[in-house]
Amino acid sequence: MLIVPENEIAGLMTRQAAFDAVEAVFAAMAAGAAYNFPVVREAIGHEDALYGFKGGFDRSGATLGLKAGGYWPHNMEKRGLINHQSTVFLFDPDTGKPRAMVGGNLLTALRTAAASAVSIKHLARGDAKVLGMIGAGHQAAFQLRAALEQRGFEKVIGWNRDPTKLSTLATVAEEAGLPFEAVTLDAMADADVIVSITSSFDAILGAHQVSPGTHVACMGTDTRGKQEVDPVLLARATVFTDEVAQSTSIGEAQHAVARGLIAEADIRQLGAVINGTQPRRSSTDEITLFDGTGVGLQDLAVAVAVVRLAVDEGVAIEVDF
Ligand code: NAD
Repeated sequence: MLIVPENEIAGLMTRQAAFDAVEAVFAAMAAGAAYNFPVVREAIGHEDALYGFKGGFDRSGATLGLKAGGYWPHNMEKRGLINHQSTVFLFDPDTGKPRAMVGGNLLTALRTAAASAVSIKHLARGDAKVLGMIGAGHQAAFQLRAALEQRGFEKVIGWNRDPTKLSTLATVAEEAGLPFEAVTLDAMADADVIVSITSSFDAILGAHQVSPGTHVACMGTDTRGKQEVDPVLLARATVFTDEVAQSTSIGEAQHAVARGLIAEADIRQLGAVINGTQPRRSSTDEITLFDGTGVGLQDLAVAVAVVRLAVDEGVAIEVDF
């Protein structure tokens, strides 16, 4: 069995490798060659932690495994550890023997950013110039870096509940040579692409704050009850997702479906667009919305990629198990 520790991931994994892995596994899911297992998520009654498993099997990539982990809200204040902790385990689908154990913390951020980047590649207008960011927490900088690589953006605008935190995003934009402006939510109407990545339980972005032709990637809602945008926006948009079952239960679409504004059948798989079996945007005025709920197969795909890189670089630790 191979081990790739968390502290090796940053030196090995690239945004491009994460993008390629996520795009390929979304395509495999839509082609029926890969599927995700039901998500387990438990409040364990200890340290206020939420712990769970996300797993799946990709027959086309011979990838079987799971990501185990969750959220320990007191880690940082008590122990100086990050609150999100996860580990990916890969198994040999032919024998069931463990193949690899891989640090999953940085990979989670990279695979989540890759998902919205894949949606921008396939759904945003080619001439998108203004990128709008909603949220400025841990994930947001990863999202911004990945999104900027997909179009010739000329400006980044950002909104966060606490505007002082936007300085992180301003730095990322400046590193990319782009101006950054902190704005009100109404000014999101100037954006051609909007990425939302918050842990809000109430709609932040109103339907009237999104202009025709915009692509919106809703990346924060991954749990029942969370919400980032007005459900009316989903009724107005063409809605895409990583996995429809998660979109309607734990994703942004849960609210629009519950209110009868859209039906499950209205939601398309992004993988089908990648495979060319579903159309991309049909006009420059269409609003496209990607509901990125985060699937186990994304974690496995990036873990496989980083194991390959670790073997190539000679940093994978081999244990007789
Ligand atoms: P974080 O705690 O570092 O940041 C949270 C962000 O949400 C901050 O910008 C904060 O200001 C904002 N926020 C919180 N409550 C809000 C409210 N009521 N109104 C407006 N803004 C609010 O979290 P993070 O690590 O950046 O993660 C952000 C979200 O992304 C979380 O909900 C997390 O579960 C989710 N996530 C999703 C995926 C996926 O695959 N879809 C993957 C990882 C994380």
